[in-house]
Amino acid sequence: MSIADNLTRIRKELSPYNSTLIAVSKTHPAEAVKEAFEFGQVDFGENKVQELQDKKVLLPEALHWHLIGHLQTNKVKYISPYVHLIHSIDSLKLLEEVNKQGVKNNRVIPCLLQVHIAQEETKFGADEHDIRTWFSTNALDQFEHIKIKGFMGMASLTDDQQKIKQEFFQLKKLFDECAKHYIKPNTDWTDLSMGMSSDYKLALDEGSNMVRIGSAIFGNRDYTI
Ligand SMILES: *Cc1c(COP(=O)(O)O)cnc(C)c1O
Repeated sequence: MSIADNLTRIRKELSPYNSTLIAVSKTHPAEAVKEAFEFGQVDFGENKVQELQDKKVLLPEALHWHLIGHLQTNKVKYISPYVHLIHSIDSLKLLEEVNKQGVKNNRVIPCLLQVHIAQEETKFGADEHDIRTWFSTNALDQFEHIKIKGFMGMASLTDDQQKIKQEFFQLKKLFDECAKHYIKPNTDWTDLSMGMSSDYKLALDEGSNMVRIGSAIFGNRDYTI
């Protein structure tokens, strides 16, 4: 299957859900990104700042770049001038740095809070308790150069569909709760980023409106090169 065939198939699946497709291009070359872009794909996701920087310079300005992987505070400055959406905010310290870079670049940087929903210890993210604390206090109010647009979550890596569904359901519930109770000047509650190649159909059924799909578009990743 070509990139164009894969995009066509996935777009068809997403259309009833009105979901935004982020094409995750990590480990794939700029030429593959260009091929997808020429086929109408605008939003791309990378999980490493260096790889994103290297690819960005080879590609048209019109692309929207999403940072979806763990972000270290000392790397925020590199992506701040242009990043379209940061999906992986998991601490107030990181928000503080993004806000600072927003001031420097004279822009409001759109962000998602990454919420830990999987059972595995290895997945990054804030937990539900942190989220409720941040929203019910004034912890977020000082960040005028950030727009918090919703949540990102990754389900457990398991074949247990029921468990994956439950994790997505839990995040949708928190998303709705925040939409109802915690409107702030720097929130704009529109994005629920959940679902990858292996579980995006489950995520869509649980209310995702943004999916991050890599291998189902670009093929399997080769980490050895
Ligand atoms: C790699 C990655 C994806 C996409 O994974 P696929 O299984 O290739 O679809 C989605 N989200 C994050 C955070 C990733 O790092």
